[in-house]
Amino acid sequence: MCPEPDSSPSGPAPGFLDRAALRGDCANCFGLCCVALPFAASADFAVTKAAGQPCVNLTTDFRCGIHARLREQGFAGCTIFDCFGAGQRVSQATFGGMDWRNPRVARRMFEVFVVMRRLHELLWYVAEALTLPAARPLHQELRRALVEIEQLARGDADSLIGLDVAALRQRINPLLLRTSELVRARASHSGSPGKRPKSYRGADLAGARLAGADLRGADLRGACLIAADLTGADLRMADLIGADLRDAKLNGADLTDVLFLTQPQLDAAVGDATTRIPHALERPAHWPRVPSPVAQTAQRTAVSGASPDRLTRSGRPAHDHPAARSRRRSSPGETPPTS
Ligand code: SF4
Repeated sequence: MCPEPDSSPSGPAPGFLDRAALRGDCANCFGLCCVALPFAASADFAVTKAAGQPCVNLTTDFRCGIHARLREQGFAGCTIFDCFGAGQRVSQATFGGMDWRNPRVARRMFEVFVVMRRLHELLWYVAEALTLPAARPLHQELRRALVEIEQLARGDADSLIGLDVAALRQRINPLLLRTSELVRARASHSGSPGKRPKSYRGADLAGARLAGADLRGADLRGACLIAADLTGADLRMADLIGADLRDAKLNGADLTDVLFLTQPQLDAAVGDATTRIPHALERPAHWPRVPSPVAQTAQRTAVSGASPDRLTRSGRPAHDHPAARSRRRSSPGETPPTS
């Protein structure tokens, strides 16, 4: 699936730098996310199922029987999930085309899938860091990290199951933090001179009113932005790694150069045709294709709108939001924050 890594850290960027390969390819997967992962009946899932139990909607050819109607049928959670390409790799490479209906491999395959998804998510972040000119001083270390993760992902099932991914993430995280600092420092130069980008790392901003806010270069790592109103906000060069964006309003927001945003995060938010998204991500299919009137108004007022110094909270309603009541998603969309 991926070309051979260049084991020389100073050599050319490895071929799997192409993040397009780090997206789910359901045609080459045995529906692993629909079997391996548990989910609980909620606003996101119409039913409860245990890990290792096939979803009732999974067909015998590993397709989703309600793919075109997931949201209408109460399975919105499935529309905000991406395996980062782990599914096809486990199906076709690690297990060589064997599927989970073989009882000898099922349990191990599910365990490997969970590990592989986390490795591929890490690959996504490191590959993104390697695309950033501001992070050039770190490119050699980043290449070395990318090669290491890729080589681990090529391991056999037993070595993958035994892998301590949490420890690996902890080791890679400082590199991503340094990348973030280098990039966000540029935001302070391009914004008001002498003004440092704000840090809201891990902050509880559920339901915060941030329409039109200047959040360029802000540190929003691991922030809870559930149902926050970011209409028309300027998020360029903000670090959103691990931020919870479920139902955050992004109509008219500018996320073009945002850092470490993933497709599942974007899919979980609410945007429209006026939301500016990073080129590596796709506009979620369930977003309206026409701009909302609210977004158009926010765009007109964005420059003089809210600033990080004027954060206001909408209070109880956001915390009553179903997603806010469950900060940790018990669904296939779960992605542990990297902070
Ligand atoms: S409803 Fe969701 S979990 Fe079930 S088969 Fe369809 S995509 Fe998979």
